Amino acid sequence: MLSCRDIVNHADQLLDRDLGISTRVAVRLHLLLCRHCRRYVKQLARLIKAIPFMHNKATEEEVRKVMDCIHSHSNL
Ligand SMILES: [Zn+2]
Repeated sequence: MLSCRDIVNHADQLLDRDLGISTRVAVRLHLLLCRHCRRYVKQLARLIKAIPFMHNKATEEEVRKVMDCIHSHSNL
């Protein structure tokens, strides 16, 4: 069973579909049982969508803002 910290570590890869099938299943299972991680992954997905990475490379400043936002929303 994955811990919440594992989920946080895997979250960006999960959204990139960059995980093996067994890890993905384990993450899904954790998300089913843990609403904190569910909320965290949802917020992360929304943030990633909101950033125009496709068109512009994010500046250091923008990256820092996003990271601050993520950290202020998760109390893990
Ligand atoms: Zn969790």
